[in-house]
Amino acid sequence: MKITSALQDTSDLKKNWSEVQLKLKETYGVDVFKSWIQNVEAKEINHNSLTLIVKTRFVRDWIVSHYADKILDFFQKLNPVVTRIQFEIHESFYNAKSADTNIVDFNTGSKIVNIQDNGYAANRLDHRLTFSNFVVGESNQLAFSAAKRVSESLGHYNPLFIYGSVGLGKTHLLNAIGNELKKTDKKIIYLSAERFMYQFVKSIKNKDTQKFKDVFRNADVLILDDIQFISGKEVTQEEFFYTFNSLTENQSQVIISCDRSPNDLDRIQDRIKSRLSGGLVVDIQSPDIALRLQILKNRCKTEETYFGKEVLINDEILSFIANEFKSSVRDMLGVLNRIIASSRIQNKTPTLQDAKMILKDLLSNMKAIISIEDIQKLVVSYYNLPMADFLSSRRSRHIARPRQVAMYLAKKLTTKSLPEIGRKFTGRDHTTVIHAIKKIEELMAADKKFEYEVQDISNKILKNN
Ligand code: ADP
Ligand code: MG
Repeated sequence: MKITSALQDTSDLKKNWSEVQLKLKETYGVDVFKSWIQNVEAKEINHNSLTLIVKTRFVRDWIVSHYADKILDFFQKLNPVVTRIQFEIHESFYNAKSADTNIVDFNTGSKIVNIQDNGYAANRLDHRLTFSNFVVGESNQLAFSAAKRVSESLGHYNPLFIYGSVGLGKTHLLNAIGNELKKTDKKIIYLSAERFMYQFVKSIKNKDTQKFKDVFRNADVLILDDIQFISGKEVTQEEFFYTFNSLTENQSQVIISCDRSPNDLDRIQDRIKSRLSGGLVVDIQSPDIALRLQILKNRCKTEETYFGKEVLINDEILSFIANEFKSSVRDMLGVLNRIIASSRIQNKTPTLQDAKMILKDLLSNMKAIISIEDIQKLVVSYYNLPMADFLSSRRSRHIARPRQVAMYLAKKLTTKSLPEIGRKFTGRDHTTVIHAIKKIEELMAADKKFEYEVQDISNKILKNN
């Protein structure tokens, strides 16, 4: 018995950890994920404390100072027991598995002739991000053309500096350039500025800085994503500056992305800013509704080709998503994925209400869309009861049950706490609310017809909002 439950615990832990990793990937992007998160393992939970295994002290320190809060946050959502995180460093594991293969191998001794072939540069490019699946609209037209131009004629703009806020397609364009150039014999290096720093610090530790310099300075094309990352990091900036200068002196192409314009970068030396602005600076703006919709439609098509199966999302839902998720294409696509995934699991075409239900947590984060009063009104009219009776202290079944349904839905569809819900039902106690939720869940589990009834009410409420 004990063994089974221990096994169960481990598999839950692994599952939760994978889910947290996924969320971190969504939050910070693939690069950060691959650099810091991917190889971290969850070991155990002991007295409220989650133990993670990392491979080096450096990685641990980095995670602690950058991602630990978020990790805890995400983990607690899945398992509220956990209140702290601790780390174990397993260097041997690291060395034995040499899991570090997707990092430039500075120890091969061979010169850099084969940057492209050592699996490094090419591997880190995401082959799915191409020009052909980048949807062009007014907001990204300039950046798109410039990127295209550079990939056709190196040095045309040098450096090319693309900026815009998160999730608007910078990394996509940078990868598109890289994927295009991969077809040539040019030596390309593509990496995030964060990775650049990681490599650099590592080379210092390994007393290998010369090799680091050689690798970078011999590239024909350097594509550096999210340069804002080096702000405030003096030593890395210094190194970047030298790399940058020697590359441009050799007529090598440099392409950079950033979350803001060179001028708006703070804690970056002025001479670097001015070099960054020395070529072409273009921005990507937020997409308008037409572009958002087109991006969603394209993504559905891609999914269809990829899975060889029709994506069952109707235009009503696509418009809804395009209208609600305006600020980041990444978030918007994440939402679409969620609905697609859910429709696959349930093997049905979701209705708009289904979609709202699936996105309930996100929607209620953005605004409290449903009030307890809305729920009460609908339940009352559904069961054809006078509101006064409904809110009274009467306990007869035909009134008490709808009341419980309303409490249950209040918990499900709003972000209100149990005591808050209780208060809205003429000052009932939170334990009454708990009891109601339990009761309704039991009844739903036991009675399909009742389950359908509650679902129906819930849909009606969502539809009204
Ligand atoms: P950024 O690097 O600016 O934060 P990304 O390039 O990572 O943003 O884009 C986030 C997501 O949105 C990616 O999946 C990307 O493919 C997608 N995306 C952004 N803009 C477009 C576009 N115009 N067409 C197609 N997909 C896009
Ligand atoms: Mg990016």
